[in-house]
Amino acid sequence: MTRLHIDWTACDGRGLCAELLPEVLATDPWGYPLPRDGSREPEVPAAVEHHARQAAALCPKLALRLK
Ligand code: SF4
Repeated sequence: MTRLHIDWTACDGRGLCAELLPEVLATDPWGYPLPRDGSREPEVPAAVEHHARQAAALCPKLALRLK
C-alpha cells in the first residue's frame, strides 16, 4: 500500500498538490493540504498513484514523498 508523506515543516500551503491529487487531498482554508481520509499520511489508491507522483515531483517545496 502506498502512502503520501507530507513534510509540514516544508509545505508553504499553496495547494498545488490538492489540484494535482484531488482524489486524496483537499485544502484547508489557508491552502494547506488536507488528507481526505483524515490520516496524517493518506493512503494513495493505485489508480491515482501517477497523480501522486506528479504532485510530489512538482511540489515547489519538495514536501511530498510516496512511501
Ligand atoms: S504543493 Fe507542496 S508546498 Fe504546496 S501545498 Fe502541497 S505540499 Fe505544500
